Amino acid sequence: MKKITCTGCSLLCDDIIIEEGKEIKELIGACLKGQDRLDQVHSENRILKPQIRKGEELKKTNWNEALERTLELINKAQKPLLYGFSTISCEAQVKAIKLAKKIDGFIDSNSTICQGRTFNAAKETGLTISTLTEVINKSDIIVLWGFNAVESIPRLLNKVLFSRGKFRMTGREIKTLIVIDPIKTASFNVMGPRDIAIRINPDEDIKLIRKLTEICCKDSQIPDDGIAGIDKDDLERLLTNLTNSENIAIFVGQGLLKPQNGSDPLKELIQLVDVINSRNKKGRASLLAAGGHYNMIGFDHMALASEGKNHSLQFKNNELIDNEENIISKIKKEDFDLSIVVGTDPIAHLPFELSKKLAAKPIILIDYSKSATYFVSDVVLPTAITGIESGGTAFRLDNVPIPLIKFLDPPEEVYSDEELLDKILITLDNGKEETGKWN
Ligand code: SF4
Repeated sequence: MKKITCTGCSLLCDDIIIEEGKEIKELIGACLKGQDRLDQVHSENRILKPQIRKGEELKKTNWNEALERTLELINKAQKPLLYGFSTISCEAQVKAIKLAKKIDGFIDSNSTICQGRTFNAAKETGLTISTLTEVINKSDIIVLWGFNAVESIPRLLNKVLFSRGKFRMTGREIKTLIVIDPIKTASFNVMGPRDIAIRINPDEDIKLIRKLTEICCKDSQIPDDGIAGIDKDDLERLLTNLTNSENIAIFVGQGLLKPQNGSDPLKELIQLVDVINSRNKKGRASLLAAGGHYNMIGFDHMALASEGKNHSLQFKNNELIDNEENIISKIKKEDFDLSIVVGTDPIAHLPFELSKKLAAKPIILIDYSKSATYFVSDVVLPTAITGIESGGTAFRLDNVPIPLIKFLDPPEEVYSDEELLDKILITLDNGKEETGKWN
């Protein structure tokens, strides 16, 4: 038996047990999403051979020809776009940033349109964060704001709510769950009698945040008619819990990422957390961004560490230059002539107008599984599944680096993202003769 880390989501559960062997006979501790991740190994969508487009069709080929075509497309491109990287290891992300630098590309990760926004919102003010261990050991209030934990990060509440911590030995009995969401998601179903379920009006989170900030700062009255669809009693209970508890962990999800009324609700929530912390002398509130992909946050850390900017990096003459673009604006303006997509499916995820523009130019896809992007790609380079067939490091949602363990061999002639990106870098340096070594 061996302990491994699940890469099914950004919780990166490192308490999963497997029975070792050529195949996995037993998997203990993983949720259905984690089991599904393991099922990818033998999925019929698995890509096992490099492929290149010949006419209308993708044809299987050898690594030599696939890398030659990759090199040809990269060398021809004046404005390459590199995108994805939230489902690969940090080690591979570093190689991808090196590649972007070498080919004067623009590189962005999925976090630019997701939880990377939390880092952006916190740039001027900083951010009070907690580790999950702290949440388990100390939190008495857990808030899910615009975040359906039960379905997107299935074991999160098992770990932080239905658990005992060093200073919370009575466990669930002492912990209060507050869910704030316009939609009655599955997370509302785990509510106990002391918990607070808040069905807020759509796109009115910012009104609630502002009202709470105002009441905290100016000691003003709670409005009789409530705010944003929340009645006075619930507002009062919410306020009491936020200002009189010892340790409050606020998990924010997709629901707070969009601007509301022309303002950024995340930025204002970060300010509210500061206000709570300055007034509540016996307690502390912190904010945790709950991204979905298991290493989305890793890209931000790798980019910050190597280039001083967390995403949307534009290189020119092998140097980072200032730019205000992101993946969306680049595609919208058609400011690219090649895409290198790694471990994601922009054709399926982006609005149709954008995916149409993306598909109109050559795409090199690096991934382990077929997706909508696969079907419009010009070159497809298969990879091992990180966290199963290759190891490395990933950043958990609380910004803690977690080792990923390889426990199965990848299919024959299938390499890790890190090895593959390294191969492309070496091939770019040394030219065509390098490609032959993988055949
Ligand atoms: S919660 Fe996430 S990391 Fe944990 S077992 Fe489920 S899918 Fe894997």
